[in-house]
Amino acid sequence: MCSCRDKCSANRKESTEVLSAADRGIHLVLLGAPGAGKGTQAKHLSAKYGLAHISSGNLLRDELTRGTKLAAEIKGYMDKGQLVPDSIIIDLIINHVKGLESPNWMLDGFPRTASQAKALKAAKELYLTHIIELQVDQEAVVKRLGGRRFDPTTGNTYHVDFDPPPADIADRVIIRDDDKEEVIRERFVIYEKNKKLIADTFGDAVTVVSCEGLSIEEVSARVDAVIDGRQE
Ligand code: AMP
Repeated sequence: MCSCRDKCSANRKESTEVLSAADRGIHLVLLGAPGAGKGTQAKHLSAKYGLAHISSGNLLRDELTRGTKLAAEIKGYMDKGQLVPDSIIIDLIINHVKGLESPNWMLDGFPRTASQAKALKAAKELYLTHIIELQVDQEAVVKRLGGRRFDPTTGNTYHVDFDPPPADIADRVIIRDDDKEEVIRERFVIYEKNKKLIADTFGDAVTVVSCEGLSIEEVSARVDAVIDGRQE
């Protein structure tokens, strides 16, 4: 194994297998297909391993709320739902990680462009120990989320197949925008692009965890096995 572990991408995967979690800290990128339960697993990982959850969207929203110098620069992009320039988000993430007390952290929402992925790979402070992708079957997600119905009066959620709304409220339940089939499919398209740019940069360092048909606890157990280096 080459000794330039911080810089040599060829050694990234090998080094994650050689060093124990305690030695190296946990530096994770968590990727999740729509409907894969990424938020739930992120909470689990934060609690179990003390990972600081670094959400690029939250960092940017925090700048807006605090009305910092950066806020004026990023507001226009964020209001339009466009990506903020790479240089801004890359600096923000690197500075945030440098200021963390926790040696263990998890990136969420970053990288989203090829330049961000390259910057992530090049930055010494952002040395990654794990990249985990939570994988689900797109058609199953469309069925699961697309069948959801929301009752605006009570706030309850139902499912046309698994938990149908009672007949007396069937007329008033709605499909939320996020649950519409075309919206779900569009999110998958964006997700696949994001996955590809990460695979292009990090190659086989990405560990795929299949979540289809598994309970939250079963997925957590698989994710834990990857973090602990118990996975084949
Ligand atoms: P999110 O909460 O992840 O949906 O992000 C909210 C908004 O923040 C996005 O619509 C973008 O404007 C911006 N944003 C979040 N992450 C990034 C990123 N990695 N690169 C550029 N812009 C981002």
